[in-house]
Amino acid sequence: MAVPWCEPCDRFWNPGSITADGACPTCGEAVKAPTGQDTHARQKVPWHFWVALAAAAIYLGWRAIQGIALLF
Ligand SMILES: [Zn+2]
Repeated sequence: MAVPWCEPCDRFWNPGSITADGACPTCGEAVKAPTGQDTHARQKVPWHFWVALAAAAIYLGWRAIQGIALLF
């Protein structure tokens, strides 16, 4: 969900706090969803990434154990 962001005031607004036409109640500037919203969404790591990472770590750990076991 996009959070209204006022650049002049440097603050977020609750969607219910802004005026009906989407303006900042403090300075009257049109508030908009922050452009960083998409970047933030992209930076947020999905849970399946960690599952894949854990699986890879377990696999590599297992292969390492096997590799060490072959030495003896
Ligand atoms: Zn403002």
